[in-house]
Amino acid sequence: MHYDYIIVGQGLSGSLLAYELLKSGRTVQVYDDLQQPKSSKVAAGIYNPFTGRKMVKTWMADALFPFLQKYYRTLEAELGIRILHNLPMFRPFLSLKEQNEWGTRIYDEHYRPYIDAIIADSGEWPQVVNPLGGLMLKQTGYVDIITLIDTVRSVLIDKKVLVNQRFTASDLQMIKNKVSYQGHQANKIIFCEGPWVSQNRLFAWIPMRPVKGEILEIELEQPLECIVNRGVFVLPYRDKYCKVGATFDNQNTDWETTPTAKLNLQRKLEGLLRTPYTVTRQIAGVRPASLDRRPLIGLHPEFEPLALFNGLGTKGVSLAPYLVRQFCDFLEQGKPMIPEVSISRYFSLYYNKF
Ligand SMILES: Cc1cc2nc3c(=O)[nH]c(=O)nc-3n(C[C@H](O)[C@H](O)[C@H](O)COP(=O)(O)OP(=O)(O)OC[C@H]3O[C@@H](n4cnc5c(N)ncnc54)[C@H](O)[C@@H]3O)c2cc1C
Repeated sequence: MHYDYIIVGQGLSGSLLAYELLKSGRTVQVYDDLQQPKSSKVAAGIYNPFTGRKMVKTWMADALFPFLQKYYRTLEAELGIRILHNLPMFRPFLSLKEQNEWGTRIYDEHYRPYIDAIIADSGEWPQVVNPLGGLMLKQTGYVDIITLIDTVRSVLIDKKVLVNQRFTASDLQMIKNKVSYQGHQANKIIFCEGPWVSQNRLFAWIPMRPVKGEILEIELEQPLECIVNRGVFVLPYRDKYCKVGATFDNQNTDWETTPTAKLNLQRKLEGLLRTPYTVTRQIAGVRPASLDRRPLIGLHPEFEPLALFNGLGTKGVSLAPYLVRQFCDFLEQGKPMIPEVSISRYFSLYYNKF
């Protein structure tokens, strides 16, 4: 068989790429081993235009956030699913200084599109510890990534292009401008392996800095109507069920849950919410983050049929739609991509090594 593209990995990245390429009439074969965990199935799926303790506007927010709304809504209509859940995000103030700063920022063009209101009355959200009120953000919410991935998987199975198998990069052969793997040929192969890319000898020179994270799933006594975010996020995803997270661990890259993370999350949760809760589940995963915290996309420096789409880090949900579309336009029409995400910034590491 000959394909236009082989895609390795069917997390969020591989799913959206495969779907886009099939939609544009290309032939695609996808390898994904169901036994292997994926960060996309652990992720809470939150999109939030601000990042970090200092609430800096996230990289390219003004382009990414309007785009993701249209993109996921289109996917919903095409696939007959509901995955995009716009939910306001409440962030309690910790000091009067912070309260004053946001009181000014609400008039600033840079922030205004993302601020819904300054909540001055702490009684408005009695479930939340917020003695100084807080900030209500908009253009926030979550994407149900599991439903998205499972639906795309069914599409791929129906088209008979999904191989539920681990791909072994050392068995890949280069033939002129094509690749060949177990009797299948393709013009290009795109590796979307998330944190597993470090085990792929063809791209092991790419500097990843994976970050382990753990999440608690809890049942609250009373439902919550918005995402609450301060130290940890509390995301209501179904009735009284919420996700609480996430931890950041640069030292370990295993997928095991730990009592330390559970304790840590519970301590922060109890400082944030007044409602009693029960922990129903704990999960762990590894974020595919790069050294400089920017995505890693592009063609191999030496073998152009090899491509990489990785490094979505903590923000896969907001980055993937825009970057998948850009990468498809690059592959199919030769349109330039934004330079910040190109793996060419690390080519010197490859040439020094080989
Ligand atoms: C605890 C936690 C919380 C998070 N919360 C959020 C959040 O709220 N919002 C957000 O935007 N992001 C969040 N993320 C990050 C998000 O999960 C990632 O950015 C995104 O899911 C990455 O998707 P991916 O497809 O690149 O990688 P993955 O989802 O890891 O997918 C990689 C796939 O490749 C497959 N694979 C790898 N090697 C091979 C091989 N050799 N052969 C076959 N298959 C292979 C794997 O099995 C897997 O299916 C979170 C992550 C974690 C761990």
